[in-house]
Amino acid sequence: MYTIAGKPVDELVREYGTPLYVYDENAMRQRLGDYRELFRDDEMETEVVYASKAFSCLAMVRLAAEYGFGLDVVSGGELYTAGKAGFDMSRVYFHGNNKTLAELQQAVKARVGTIIVDNAMEAEVLAALMQDADYRVKTLLRINPGIEAHTHHYIVTAHVDSKFGIAMTDEAEVVQTIRLLQACPNIEFAGLDAHIGSQIFDRNAFAELVRKLFAFAVRLQQEYGIRVHTLDLGGGFAARYTEKDAPIPLPEVCRCILDTCREENRQAGGLIRKVIIEPGRSIVAEAGYMLYTVGFMKTTPNRHYIFVDGGMSDNIRPALYQAEYDALIAGREEDTPAMTYTVAGKCCESGDVLIDAIKLPKTEPGDILVMKTTGAYGYAMASRYNKLPVPGVVFVRDGQAREVIARETYEDLISHEK
Ligand SMILES: *Cc1c(COP(=O)(O)O)cnc(C)c1O
Repeated sequence: MYTIAGKPVDELVREYGTPLYVYDENAMRQRLGDYRELFRDDEMETEVVYASKAFSCLAMVRLAAEYGFGLDVVSGGELYTAGKAGFDMSRVYFHGNNKTLAELQQAVKARVGTIIVDNAMEAEVLAALMQDADYRVKTLLRINPGIEAHTHHYIVTAHVDSKFGIAMTDEAEVVQTIRLLQACPNIEFAGLDAHIGSQIFDRNAFAELVRKLFAFAVRLQQEYGIRVHTLDLGGGFAARYTEKDAPIPLPEVCRCILDTCREENRQAGGLIRKVIIEPGRSIVAEAGYMLYTVGFMKTTPNRHYIFVDGGMSDNIRPALYQAEYDALIAGREEDTPAMTYTVAGKCCESGDVLIDAIKLPKTEPGDILVMKTTGAYGYAMASRYNKLPVPGVVFVRDGQAREVIARETYEDLISHEK
């Protein structure tokens, strides 16, 4: 039988049912440990910040804390989750292009360590809010460096018309916004932040980003006397979804970024004290598995359909980004493929196809279909479309399973209804 972190999937299905989000906790711990070891430097301070939007829940936030990570949150809800998990608020980074006043107040009340200011209006609101705060908040300014990493156009964030950040080319706006922040005694302007997209396979993209940010930091210092001492390079490190994907191995990405930073920093006379990265997907994606039970099947002129008991409600990525996945039939992963199947969900949308074409051994109703690399932006983007309850989440470590989020019940589905 196919196992996840030493636990046979048929046992998981017996104990928790399907559809089910399963995480290999050993794999996540390995990954967190790897980042911690690899993103280190003798000359500059470094910090790895987990982008919790990829998969945010109490158990995951605690895991990130255990490995000494910072935490990136993008909403009041993620901030609340961090607080409830007991995360050190001084290590929280609050992102977002349209933080509401209530969210900013919540952040200040919680004494969040760093706020990433996205635009000039936010700087004004924050400066007003911090006037009578009882602590000093660090800020980074989100910059759009104009680098287009090769990825799906929905997840590209740094093209000229991006909703995120102030364009590096709009220097007057950048300077004015920084001055606004610097004028407030309770705000420390620490530096610049950029995030150039997600699922980036191109190693030059990160080196180019580092060079651009250093050049810009030097320019701000020389032309305007603005001191930048921290650079946050964002996330976007790729995961392997199918055999077509070849993510740059973690040691190489980290080395490339740190080498480029060190080199640039020497030329910049040691201007930069601290470098931050914010991986999300690359920490949780490959550790995640989705277990489904195969239901009805049918053959049309051009397709052999396998219908599973979940779909776009638990994983919207195929419908949203044409994301591709690999899967197997538990207990038959060594069998030779019998034919090419289409794996479709049970939602009332023709676009509810999880895998367009995959070779699998002969499959039957009742089989367990294991979809791989579902750990990022799956549960996080789940919906209750068709009033399907959101599946539960189980972590498996050394063969032991523990439920970290209970499966929703029908009662949960109507619990807010009057
Ligand atoms: C989404 C996001 C990340 C994480 O991106 P991944 O592709 O999951 O690594 C990091 N930083 C910012 C600002 C983001 O918006």
